[in-house]
Amino acid sequence: MYKKKNREIIIGSNNAGKIKEIRDLLPKTYKIFSPKDFKLNSPKENGKSFVQNSLIKAEYYSKQSGKICIADDSGLEIDILGKAPGIFSARWGGQKGNFNVAIKKVFKELNKKDKKWKEKKIVARFVCALTIYGFKKKPIHSLGIIRGMISNKKKGKNGFGYDPIFIPNGSEQTFGQMKPSIKYKIDHRFIAFKKIKKFF
Ligand code: IMP
Repeated sequence: MYKKKNREIIIGSNNAGKIKEIRDLLPKTYKIFSPKDFKLNSPKENGKSFVQNSLIKAEYYSKQSGKICIADDSGLEIDILGKAPGIFSARWGGQKGNFNVAIKKVFKELNKKDKKWKEKKIVARFVCALTIYGFKKKPIHSLGIIRGMISNKKKGKNGFGYDPIFIPNGSEQTFGQMKPSIKYKIDHRFIAFKKIKKFF
């Protein structure tokens, strides 16, 4: 058994933005790995919820690497789109995971739903399910949610994914305009992480 402070852990994601964010949340004394260190591709995400998909990833990367794994499954839910893109958030970016393509699709779907959406408050939220696998007998789950609205145009160059079009409640800026150090302290991953911090 490792001493707690020397634990080895793999971050179960192939998304550079997420790896960076989760790495910053983990204790500095941990030895941190990513799927690249083991040349692992992503498993098929065929779960029906964020929690199921985060479990699929955490179990897969933990078993393949022999390490404890923390994996995240996350996405954007837009109310008037029936909570889409939801668990398909990454897939809206196409095979290459192009976030510009994903954002264009959001605007296209909103236009289809309501021609005047740009004048309205488009309620949305980011959801993050975190799972730690290989640590306790049973996987540990946690859910974090941040509520906000969709910006009627892309703003800011920071972050990744839908950051340039998401304005969290209480802010006038999109996540894409915020300094990453500010975003990391309020977002869905941070909220989910806070709830399971005691395990680290
Ligand atoms: P996953 O890697 O299958 O969980 O896909 C999550 C997708 O949701 C990402 O590829 C992004 O498109 C989106 N997403 C999740 N969290 C964030 C975030 O913090 N900012 C922007 N987009 C996010």
